[in-house]
Amino acid sequence: MTEALRVDLHTHTSCSDGMLTPTELVLRAAGAGIELLAITDHDTTAGVLQAERCAPAAGVRLVPGVEISASWRAQSIHVLGLWIDPASGPLCRALDAQAQHRARRMARICERLSALGLPGSALLRAVEAQPGLPTRTHLAAAMLEAGIVARSEDAFRKYLGRGTAAHVAADWPDLASVVGWILAAGGIASLAHPARYRLSGGARRRLLADFKTAGGTALEVITGGNAAQHVDACADWAQGFGLEASIGSDFHSPEHVWNPLGRLAKLPDRVRPVWRRE
Ligand code: AMP
Ligand code: MN
Ligand code: MN
Ligand code: MN
Repeated sequence: MTEALRVDLHTHTSCSDGMLTPTELVLRAAGAGIELLAITDHDTTAGVLQAERCAPAAGVRLVPGVEISASWRAQSIHVLGLWIDPASGPLCRALDAQAQHRARRMARICERLSALGLPGSALLRAVEAQPGLPTRTHLAAAMLEAGIVARSEDAFRKYLGRGTAAHVAADWPDLASVVGWILAAGGIASLAHPARYRLSGGARRRLLADFKTAGGTALEVITGGNAAQHVDACADWAQGFGLEASIGSDFHSPEHVWNPLGRLAKLPDRVRPVWRRE
């Protein structure tokens, strides 16, 4: 039975905006009884190589992964690349460009914070001093540290989230290109947390159709903190669009006690687990 396998195919390390190093993450996953683990950092595979070194001794099968930021009709969409070859030339070139894109975007966000009378340059330096490819999580942490906000969620709510004063519109590569890089790297593309995007029903169906047309294979049917009704809706979407199912916590930190590694709802029998090929 595939369901008996303990699986988590969506996790972050300190190579992006996770709190644990890849080695710490693998050891924690082993402690949680996870047998199949994907490391899926935002726009980087740097953690995969480190994790590969310690996974066998820890008894964890590692799935090399990545979570790539894409744009679809001016919306920011996340695509998981699973079982990718991190050495793939097209993928490496694309992720280098994503890193540059992230650096430019962070500088622009910090300029906006400066225009609001906040210490944008100091915040940018504080982001650059942190490990990992810079994300808004890094900036929220810097704002918390500087005493500008009391909680990192407040940084997103007041300054960094969509529709707020320092928000910089997503300008990621288009969805089809992102799926193409994953396929070029021999991987499988799974659309991450499909219930989290603010889309109408019709727009979501168009997104799923475009993703499938681009060569997408799976939908993340179960994600951390998914309410039961989302699981059913996601399973319906997967079935309706002929997509397989992936599951993953989107683990970032042990401090997020509401979202632990590997504690995921059961996948409905009517969808096909993407890891059956393991
Ligand atoms: P970025 O990829 O730079 O746009 O940063 C996005 C990351 O910020 C996500 O992967 C989450 O980890 C985090 N994030 C997004 N929205 C929030 C929020 N409202 N509160 C806390 N963290 C958030
Ligand atoms: Mn994140
Ligand atoms: Mn995501
Ligand atoms: Mn994620």
